[in-house]
Amino acid sequence: MAEKKEPRTTLPDVREHPRFAGVATFCRFPLIESVVPGHQPVDWAIYGVPFDGGVTYRPGARFGPRAIRDASQYIKPVHLELGVNIAEIFSLADAGDAPIKPYSCKDTIDAACGFALALGDPAITKLLAVGGDHSIAYANIKATWQRRGRPKRGLAMLHLDAHLDTVESVWGEKWGHASPLIRAIEDSLIDPSRMLSAGIRGPHNATADLDFARDHGVEVVTYDQWRSGEGTARLDAFKKRLGDDEVYLSFDIDCVDPAYAPGTGTPSCGGFTSADIFALLRRFASVNLAGADIVEVLPDRDPSGVTALLASHIIFEILCLAAAHSNR
Ligand code: MN
Ligand code: MN
Repeated sequence: MAEKKEPRTTLPDVREHPRFAGVATFCRFPLIESVVPGHQPVDWAIYGVPFDGGVTYRPGARFGPRAIRDASQYIKPVHLELGVNIAEIFSLADAGDAPIKPYSCKDTIDAACGFALALGDPAITKLLAVGGDHSIAYANIKATWQRRGRPKRGLAMLHLDAHLDTVESVWGEKWGHASPLIRAIEDSLIDPSRMLSAGIRGPHNATADLDFARDHGVEVVTYDQWRSGEGTARLDAFKKRLGDDEVYLSFDIDCVDPAYAPGTGTPSCGGFTSADIFALLRRFASVNLAGADIVEVLPDRDPSGVTALLASHIIFEILCLAAAHSNR
């Protein structure tokens, strides 16, 4: 960051435009319609999917995108630890919200996927979806997979969650928030042999809950394994194994302890602190990100707004991981 570069994303000048005024977009990025086509192709389009019809417990994540936009007004473009300025490296845009069908998981997934596929320049623009419950991840994974040339064996995946999300179905629903990853693996959008789920912790319904991961070669790092240090070495080995392969990042906010992220639908105690999760993510700096999502923020259970605030910082961290890759 020695020489001064022209920013690729124009952010409102804070000395002229207060952060608390105006219409809230993610991190104050311009709306995608205002980015001149052809002149500055959007590198990352961030869009909301305000849908929570896939939950198995508390509803309310449909209000996640709005709360996260609001909480993200204080995000700034420079990452101290990674030494990147995302506004210099990327053209970033808020693409608004995907259309949703509140009474149907599958119809919402199809609508959101179609919306995502039409964003920006299909050869360049990467997709960051903001939920909504975890069911919406399938839509962004599918759109990303298609845009990244439909890799036959599927994309590699880093999955951060208290839960495995590989349940066959719940209440007869195959497309709910407990099942996005089993569907993505079945459809070869994700390669389970290059997938790692971190932050997993109890209680579980049955010991058989872990069978799918074990049988399909998904690597699981429980929160306890991370805490003991053993998981850290395995995360590093996973990153090394990925090399420069494109990897999709699916971030369920409930991987973080409810003390730090209370605003979520299926909270599980004894998880990452905010600082833990930044440390974990930063181990993946310069990984080749294909796309990402952040899901399960439930503002009604977030009285202080800390969960939405954390989610807005996670969006920033994700973009910085990608910026560190572009900046190598
Ligand atoms: Mn979860
Ligand atoms: Mn999840």
